[in-house]
Amino acid sequence: MRQVPDVHQAEPIPAAARDAIDALMQSGDLFRYTAPQDAPVALLESEFAAMIGTKYALAVSSCSAALFLTLKALGLPRDARVLIPAFTFAAVPSSVIHADCVPVLCEVGDNYRIDLDDFHAKLPGVDAVMISHMRGHTSDMDAIMASCDAAGIPVIEDAAHSLGTVWGGRNIGTIGRVGCFSFQSYKMINAGEGGILITDDADLVARAVIMSGAYEHNWKKHKGPFGQNDPELADAFARWQNRLPLYNLRMSNLSAAVIRPQLPELVRRVRDGLANHDHVAARLMTSPFIDVPAPLAPERRAPDSIQFNLVGLSTDQVQAFADAAAEMGVKVQVFGLSKDNARAFWNWQFLGDQPDLPQTRAMLMRACDVRLPVRLTRAELDVVADILLDAVASVTGSAPRAYGT
Ligand SMILES: *Cc1c(COP(=O)(O)O)cnc(C)c1O
Repeated sequence: MRQVPDVHQAEPIPAAARDAIDALMQSGDLFRYTAPQDAPVALLESEFAAMIGTKYALAVSSCSAALFLTLKALGLPRDARVLIPAFTFAAVPSSVIHADCVPVLCEVGDNYRIDLDDFHAKLPGVDAVMISHMRGHTSDMDAIMASCDAAGIPVIEDAAHSLGTVWGGRNIGTIGRVGCFSFQSYKMINAGEGGILITDDADLVARAVIMSGAYEHNWKKHKGPFGQNDPELADAFARWQNRLPLYNLRMSNLSAAVIRPQLPELVRRVRDGLANHDHVAARLMTSPFIDVPAPLAPERRAPDSIQFNLVGLSTDQVQAFADAAAEMGVKVQVFGLSKDNARAFWNWQFLGDQPDLPQTRAMLMRACDVRLPVRLTRAELDVVADILLDAVASVTGSAPRAYGT
């Protein structure tokens, strides 16, 4: 029996986190605003901003909270229309309705990226654009930014699952007006829960900081590129004092203590994740029934999972493939086939009636998703690839792969 790796088990958290947590346990200092300065959350914000290359970062309770705060901080009026891809996680349209805005769903191609024809058709009616780089697949940010800049429409990057991805030499999340990342356990940096918002816009970040729960003068503990008394930031805070609601979406010092020692691990995780992905992709592409869409030319990916399309298979065969792989120990999620899947737009019933999106629907019925945590060894990756190839061979009646070759 092949030893199938557990693809849901995370990497251990670096030991340095224990010391930081022990210190917090001793002091009881878990709230980010208790210390006058240099609380773990504040240090995380400075370190993250420096690492990714932005002026400001605001750590919050989740990426969804960061997306919601961004929409609020943009000052969008009630019922403003926000374009999002129709292939994303249900939390994304949820953040839009949470902000009293209206999501406009855009078609996604079979390479999991925004369909630019539908994007350009829908852009004239929208007030903001939120690009989900779903599963770390980057949409064409050059085309999107050119159109949005020309139309004066702000772009928010939902980079929840894209930390470490580079587009044309720039870090993903730094291309739009705001970038939002997640520290949920299935992302590149794991704190269980958590998120962070990055921007170069002092006024926008000041509004987001206050609304995240920096009541009274706690905003004084936030730093800009010129430290704790950044003049541009101080002016913006003075402008917004007492004028915004407090949604209390702060991050705890405990989460920051878990995240900070993982930042130096990112380069290695990205390198290993990409090598792992490309190894499995090359093996899967030996089957005529599997297509792994190529990255776009300016994109260097940071994957911790693999997505591929089954080509020329009926819906019954797609289901049989997923069942066969599961029987052999590898869980394949077919976004459109698993019941109540949160990434299938027709399950977002809280949005009310939506126009159909036939292209995205067709993609979701064929697109398979398999986790490939970056800690997997070459041998473990080969077990996963063998099982997927055997499963596709079994449902298509093609010759089974010979073992040991
Ligand atoms: C995980 C994820 C989210 C949600 O992040 P949370 O931190 O769990 O709120 C949003 N968008 C995408 C693309 C994601 O992968």
